Amino acid sequence: VFVVFEGGDGAGKSTQARLLADALRAEGHDVVRTREPGGTPLGERVRALVLDPAHGPVDARTEALLFAAARAAHVEQLIRPALAAGRTVVCDRYADSSAAYQGAGRGLGVDRVAELNAWATTGLLPDLTVLLDVPATTGRTRREARDGDAGDRLELEPDAFHDATREAFLELAARAPGRYLVLDATRPAAELAAAVRSGLAALPRA
Ligand code: C5P
Repeated sequence: VFVVFEGGDGAGKSTQARLLADALRAEGHDVVRTREPGGTPLGERVRALVLDPAHGPVDARTEALLFAAARAAHVEQLIRPALAAGRTVVCDRYADSSAAYQGAGRGLGVDRVAELNAWATTGLLPDLTVLLDVPATTGRTRREARDGDAGDRLELEPDAFHDATREAFLELAARAPGRYLVLDATRPAAELAAAVRSGLAALPRA
């Protein structure tokens, strides 16, 4: 089973991915928790290249292609083999993040970036995508509390950028409601974790 957490910066994806992985492991499941950008040594280097402010601004196409390349390696080297071995994969961000950030936020077009990533992933879709929906202002407050001044380059984007990515995430979820669980991420973490757990239990294959 392949579960992905999506949503804006400060939505609580990493916390929920960890809580879900812990809960599933406690039930005896074999769980791989991973993240994007990243997930493999190559992916982590791409992440560092794109996100490190020291490398200066990266244009939108370059960013989209680098993240897609990292994702292709992630699917090929880690996600598909884990799924084939019957393991549960819990991933913090996946292709929808690119459609939302590079497609909507940076203006490359949601569909074009989604298409690029369908190619990069050889069409691998999550069984369930949990969209942690959070208003831009809440996300910013949480990021500031978490990172202080040490946020990476992209987290310094204006609220309008995060509003655009939020709308794109919601639109992607509305296109395939059966594969998405959309949650109000301003709710307490424990409540959200319980909602995720029941959403997953309700899946035909889970
Ligand atoms: O979710 P995480 O904090 O690991 O993401 C790191 C940064 O990468 C965030 O600032 C996020 O906005 C950005 N990002 C992006 N495009 C993606 C994925 C993440 O701009 N496709």
